[in-house]
Amino acid sequence: MGDTVQRIETIVATIPRDTPYLGGLRPGEQANSRGYFVRQGNRTVYPTMDRSVLVRIETRDGAVGWGETYGIVAPGAVVAIIEDLLTEFVVGRDPWDVAAIHDQLYDLMRVRGYTGGFYLDALAAIDIALWDICGKLAHKPIAKLLGGQRRGSIPSYVSGLPRATLAERVELAAEWQARNFSLFKFAASVADDGVIPELRALRERLGDTAQIAVDLHWMYSPIEAIATIRQMEPFGPWFAEAPCKPEDIDGQAQIAANVGVPMALGEEWRTVFDARPRLERRCAAILQPEMGHTGITQFMRIANAAEAHHCQVIPHATIGLGIFLAASLQASAAIGSLPAHEFQHSVVERTDRFITGDMTCADGLYAVPTGPGLGVAPSDEAIALFKS
Ligand code: MG
Repeated sequence: MGDTVQRIETIVATIPRDTPYLGGLRPGEQANSRGYFVRQGNRTVYPTMDRSVLVRIETRDGAVGWGETYGIVAPGAVVAIIEDLLTEFVVGRDPWDVAAIHDQLYDLMRVRGYTGGFYLDALAAIDIALWDICGKLAHKPIAKLLGGQRRGSIPSYVSGLPRATLAERVELAAEWQARNFSLFKFAASVADDGVIPELRALRERLGDTAQIAVDLHWMYSPIEAIATIRQMEPFGPWFAEAPCKPEDIDGQAQIAANVGVPMALGEEWRTVFDARPRLERRCAAILQPEMGHTGITQFMRIANAAEAHHCQVIPHATIGLGIFLAASLQASAAIGSLPAHEFQHSVVERTDRFITGDMTCADGLYAVPTGPGLGVAPSDEAIALFKS
């Protein structure tokens, strides 16, 4: 009989930060007693610290796989779902049945409407850990198990530009350009002088060879988004992300059909069921699955659906410890049309301390980890710190 899952453990990783993600607090923004504040630009809650949920799965024969999911708000919800509900349905299973296990766990709650959100985040962490075990048992990086590794490095785009003023954000982008990064994205919700001046200033400073995307942070009505993106067109944006409310499929399609800039969608999706109606309506030219939400199984299903609709995949990269980032790079290495991957420098800059393995991002390129499975794991220091 083959090896089977014996034990599942969860760890919440909390890492303080000097400045919140996307930069310091703006006027009217104030952290509450739980460390949360609301960005006035897009009315979305953000934490003042970094946080994610790690999952460690161990097999009867001693193989260990690591998973990680999105935990920036209420990480205890995901931990409770894994510990109270999912663990007993995974213990005893063959890790090679990873996609079947994912689908069976999805079935447990689908008719009750738990087809996204925290429930799918919990499934994502388990899915990544099971794929990690498969890679380790096969002595191969996960990319090799996903149809084949197409690339060992992936162009990275600098995301967020977390500085207080437009001048400082432009300078930060120029600093990254001097380090051989040529792809950038800025965020509308913190573009205090407006998105058109922000794009113009970045274009003037970075030159024509830079690719500059804009994350519109779901802030506009479809009509406003069309007008805004058309005003951006003279400055050559690379793509425009999340232009209107995420539920507004008609609005997404309307925008995509009426501007000359590729639309990018997908960071909040959990499954291919989120992607499918938007692909059919041609709402986007670029899909941005977030591994911390999808896990590898659904990430690859979204990528395969993108390919069937002649769309590109440029994965989203949210804040984590680096485990789901490694999973995203492994999957990205196996996807056909994948021109770039988001880069959060605050995550990669601390991997020396918190992550083992050879995942790096330098000179505008990620190096896909080369070890078996994910090719990375939490360091002893990280485990000691976060378990205490
Ligand atoms: Mg975004």
